[in-house]
Amino acid sequence: MDLFEHQARELFEEHGILVPRAEVTDSSKEVRGIARRLGGRVVVKAQVRTGGRGKAGGVRIAADPAAAELTARQILGMDIKGHTVRAVMVAEPVAIESEFYVSYVLDRAAGRFLAIASAEGGMDIEEVAATRPEAVARVPVDPAEGVTSAKAAEIAEAAGLPARTVDVLVRLWEVLVREDALLVEVNPLVRTARGQILALDGKITLDDNAAFRHARRGGRSLAPDDPLEAAAAAKSLTYVKLDGEVGVIGNGAGLVMSTLDVVAGCGARPANFLDIGGGASAQIMADGLSVVLSDPDVKSVLVNVFGGITACDAVAEGIVRALDSVRPTKHLVVRLDGNNAARGRAVLDARAHPLVQQATTMDGAARRAAELAHAA
Ligand code: GDP
Ligand code: MN
Repeated sequence: MDLFEHQARELFEEHGILVPRAEVTDSSKEVRGIARRLGGRVVVKAQVRTGGRGKAGGVRIAADPAAAELTARQILGMDIKGHTVRAVMVAEPVAIESEFYVSYVLDRAAGRFLAIASAEGGMDIEEVAATRPEAVARVPVDPAEGVTSAKAAEIAEAAGLPARTVDVLVRLWEVLVREDALLVEVNPLVRTARGQILALDGKITLDDNAAFRHARRGGRSLAPDDPLEAAAAAKSLTYVKLDGEVGVIGNGAGLVMSTLDVVAGCGARPANFLDIGGGASAQIMADGLSVVLSDPDVKSVLVNVFGGITACDAVAEGIVRALDSVRPTKHLVVRLDGNNAARGRAVLDARAHPLVQQATTMDGAARRAAELAHAA
């Protein structure tokens, strides 16, 4: 799970990494008071789980508390790469002398971590990496040895970072290990005019498999920011919101991924990924369908099930149950194949819902769902 910048900032602070003073709020009215507490002039920063906020206009300096409130009102509700801004962080501005990039990422193929660092941090690090790879140092880190002072010095030296960053590099590694993170990234890590090293931005991806080890920690919000994702998580469904208009439901991650591709191949865009899993019950199907149908972006729904452990008649029963409770206003195209497919199709035929049609192949079903979405 990805953390918001303000959550990453808190973890940095707990591990002794310097960060600017800041407060978070979801109300623009509170921003004026926060700005006053922080000295008047502040940086207002969109809190979304994606990078590139600066370029999207989601990071802005405000000269005084009144301007800060106005800026927050503009940033709250903004869409940044498909993420709606629901909170802002108001931070004390920092006089930047230099911007660096540092991160630790898991290198699965090599079975170790990689320290990536550059003396040319800031907003264009991707471009630096693409055009001048020599400006970005990559130093393997053995997970058993970790980042000692000596290792940190090696990383700083390779990237051309000032010696003062060595302590931060060691602490950042502690964040990764202690918090069970798969990625920690600071861009920019800055040197201020007064020579301090500060983390001005933070991205942390936690290993969800280790969440139980942090359950005692009350402050960490594990709730997804998308309300549909939160609703799906509450029902233990594997759901990811996407940008398109065709709702997709299937059983098994592989089948659902292929279904997304086939929908895209038909000139439409999937609105979500939803895997009801193997052995899915009628109730799970009903829950899944109600989440997808409640997405206002969805124009049609494609249900693609290949019954293995999951019996198609249970899936069909779930669809019928959902039709009666959710009362859809969108077309559904259902393709059932495999275990008990004939019985499943018969259940849907018997219900004869005017918005439900069946297809026998995945391609045919996707094409029909795409047409229906375009016509809607
Ligand atoms: P990102 O675009 O999502 O990576 O957001 P960042 O938090 O990295 O902010 C983007 C850019 O805004 C940074 O690279 C900095 O150059 C600038 N910035 C952020 N905070 C401050 C600040 O306190 N003072 C100044 N002068 N610039 C800042
Ligand atoms: Mn950044």
